Amino acid sequence: MNHATVIATYSRRMRIRLPNGEEVDARIKGKRIKPVCGDHVDAELIENESDWLITSIATRRNELTRPNMRGKVEVLAANLDYLVVVAAVEPKADWFIVDRYLCAAELMGIDAGIVFNKIDLGADLPTDELANYQAIGYDVVTCSAESGQGIEGVRNLLRSHCAIIVGQSGVGKSSIINGLVGDELQKTAQISDKSREGRHTTVNSAMISLPGGGVIIDSPGVRDYAPALESSTIASRGFREIREAAQECRFANCRHLREPGCAVKDRCETGAISPRRYESYKRIVNLTEQLSEGRF
Ligand code: GDP
Ligand code: ZN
Repeated sequence: MNHATVIATYSRRMRIRLPNGEEVDARIKGKRIKPVCGDHVDAELIENESDWLITSIATRRNELTRPNMRGKVEVLAANLDYLVVVAAVEPKADWFIVDRYLCAAELMGIDAGIVFNKIDLGADLPTDELANYQAIGYDVVTCSAESGQGIEGVRNLLRSHCAIIVGQSGVGKSSIINGLVGDELQKTAQISDKSREGRHTTVNSAMISLPGGGVIIDSPGVRDYAPALESSTIASRGFREIREAAQECRFANCRHLREPGCAVKDRCETGAISPRRYESYKRIVNLTEQLSEGRF
């Protein structure tokens, strides 16, 4: 029996890393367990085969989830400690999407950072937005995957983390990963050709070790997807500056919408809380309520 880490998933096939660093293919014992990237698992070598068998999953520190087609919650990755949201000059940054990701990270209890890419395009940077994210405690790095400028900053950001990378399609996530790992990427993401389920099974998600330290999980399923919340009342916990101000609201159950004596609205008026972030908060509250009322 070995404690291994799941480093790539292809439907029911997995790639795992053994304690000695060796990476091997694995299958899953039974239908009940569903390992995901980042999982710590017990595995054993199957007799007379090169495949390993995953027999159990260790308790997860956290999970990144999303509701699937059948309305059930699907786990996409586990045991993360950082979320990197990539935004870029082009496609134009949608800060609401950025806030939804940050909200998800906050609710998972993990730290997050914003990587603003394509600075080589010479456009004006959204300095106010970036400065505000920095002021409320998020890491902010600007870079160009194209020219390599700032990529060392991204490397430093991820050095000690098991991070997941997210952001709108086209912002440069693949390019940034390539810039960080070079040719190493291909090695991790490939499963052996002996795979019984065919050699062209597509990767669900992969954990990529970064030269210099840290790992990054890239998952097509989460790349440009921001998770929905269980209820609108937990939305305020996903905005750290709102959560902090909420302690001074007159009512303990203040939703920071129309209640009197609301410290959040006061701070928006003085500019201590960014009105744009507050708009994101309200949109998330509305979206969550519509979802729970089945209006979508
Ligand atoms: P993803 O969908 O987030 O993975 O984005 P990609 O990495 O596929 O990049 C989308 C497009 O943007 C590609 O055409 C890249 O060549 C381009 N791109 C990525 N990074 C940069 C950058 O720093 N500067 C410029 N000018 N283009 C970039
Ligand atoms: Zn309030």
